[in-house]
Amino acid sequence: MNVLLFGFGRAGKIHYNNLINNLNFKLTHLVELYDVSNEINESIKYIDFKNKEEIKNILKGDEIRAVIVASPTSTHYEVIKLSLENNKHVFVEKPITESEEEINECFDLAERNNLILFVGYNRRYDPTIRRIYNSVRNDEVGFINYAFTISRDYPYPTNDFLKISGGIFHDCATHDIDYMNWILNDKPISVNVSVFDNDDIEEYNYDHVTINFKYSLGTIVCLNLSRIASSYDQRCEFYGTKGEIINNNFKENAKLSFPQRYRDAFRIELESFYDCIKNGIKPEVTKEQCLNNYIIAEACQEAIDKNKKITIKYGEGFRNYNNVSKSVYNNYLTARKNQTVEFVQKMQNKFSKFDTKMEIWDILEDLNSLVDVSDPDVAHPNLYHAIQTAESMRKDNLPDWMQLMGLLHDIGKIMYKKGNDDEGTGKKEQWAMVGDTFIVGCKLPNGIIFPEFNNENPDMQNEKYNTELGIYSEGCGLDNLMCSWGHDEYLYQILMSSKNPHTLPEEALYMARYHSLYAYHDKKEYFRFQSNKDKEMFDWLKKFNKYDLYSKCDDIYDIDMLKPYYINLINKYFTNSFLYI
Ligand code: FE
Ligand code: FE
Repeated sequence: MNVLLFGFGRAGKIHYNNLINNLNFKLTHLVELYDVSNEINESIKYIDFKNKEEIKNILKGDEIRAVIVASPTSTHYEVIKLSLENNKHVFVEKPITESEEEINECFDLAERNNLILFVGYNRRYDPTIRRIYNSVRNDEVGFINYAFTISRDYPYPTNDFLKISGGIFHDCATHDIDYMNWILNDKPISVNVSVFDNDDIEEYNYDHVTINFKYSLGTIVCLNLSRIASSYDQRCEFYGTKGEIINNNFKENAKLSFPQRYRDAFRIELESFYDCIKNGIKPEVTKEQCLNNYIIAEACQEAIDKNKKITIKYGEGFRNYNNVSKSVYNNYLTARKNQTVEFVQKMQNKFSKFDTKMEIWDILEDLNSLVDVSDPDVAHPNLYHAIQTAESMRKDNLPDWMQLMGLLHDIGKIMYKKGNDDEGTGKKEQWAMVGDTFIVGCKLPNGIIFPEFNNENPDMQNEKYNTELGIYSEGCGLDNLMCSWGHDEYLYQILMSSKNPHTLPEEALYMARYHSLYAYHDKKEYFRFQSNKDKEMFDWLKKFNKYDLYSKCDDIYDIDMLKPYYINLINKYFTNSFLYI
């Protein structure tokens, strides 16, 4: 198979050597900005990178079947597009391109033209890392609670390279990010970064970096990167519930670099590229993973620029469920499988005792240790979200009872104290506590989040429950429907108990009870059940939702400063400073 190689720099030389020693490939052309004709075999034709016409002509012809791209990242997009448009399979060094749009465009073009676009995240092909992947995926060490990597570069890169490298996050950290996500089968939801630099001449290049990630399933990951070392240094450690994996092979002062450390990986990934072309196999690195690696590297930079913890957002806007983390997906799938009429009745019974006394402020503070696993927009504990919601209402001069509801709307999550993971009401398993709710006892609508899970609900096989009206009647009012069990309904029941006297208006209770019923207030499902009261309340619910959703950001309020104001509101509307839960 004839191939053309772009680039004869750090990575290009490695691919060059592998190509000329690989019987499956025949390297016929090499494109580089500088004349390297006397460094390469005579049989290979050197082309000047500036000679665009000649490059185009060669790619237009049938001689070349595949292109290897190892030129600087800024050239990738142009070269990939030109190659794919001319029906060539492409192998490209990471990172694929310099923007999300370009990544999308390149993968879409490859798919349309039925071509392979293979991204060289070489760590995945390193035999040691592959072994770790296999043992984690085969559950040999249990759930990974903590992992860390050390990646130190050697020798210190030249200034010319640093200028075009894309910065340490896109150049170096992207490798660790990629293989960490790949091994853990998860992705980070938040990031914190510390940096140290001797002289920050080059943009986004730091001499030392530590990156702290929190993954959606709870794993904490620390990536340590440095440009300074006495030899190329690549280590990683994984600590699981059943065991640990420690990969430590550093040789001080050995003065090795990545061509030695990843010699096998570079060779194997090239073989894999050939395999993909020959057998029409999809490459292991997907478009989604490349996009995630890009987004995560950008979030690392943002964490430095803003000097704070960043919630990593994988989609546009709020409530984007197209590319959700594992925890969000699992939460909705399990809820759909288990939330039946029978289950909801059981939970209503279980949580109707109201026999535990707790100060209202203590409930809020207690929830500081709880992160909502169903929320794709938030990686902060609940108290932040409560304060953010209330404060944004206060800023807009909304009634004080509504501000108070903004503060308290999620305190039903305190059910975890009496709950357990088996019933989805624990700290880890939250499928009967958080996430969008739906009505049980009638057909699950299509306007619900992840409608593809609807068939998993056992009630949908029951003729009593799987019709439009189910066990209800038209116009019966939302108050007569049974919602899937969650923090909304629990808080409503707490507030309705005579043990918890207060003077909150009906609108406040309505907001508490239905704020997670997105299928209703966002997608207009269940309108057939609306009563006159529901029609009147609808706008309040919409209004509340606006603040629940759009106040989500990484701004942190000084809670101690705000506390007196909200304690005052609690005293105004509640007879006692405590609640029976
Ligand atoms: Fe909520
Ligand atoms: Fe909320």
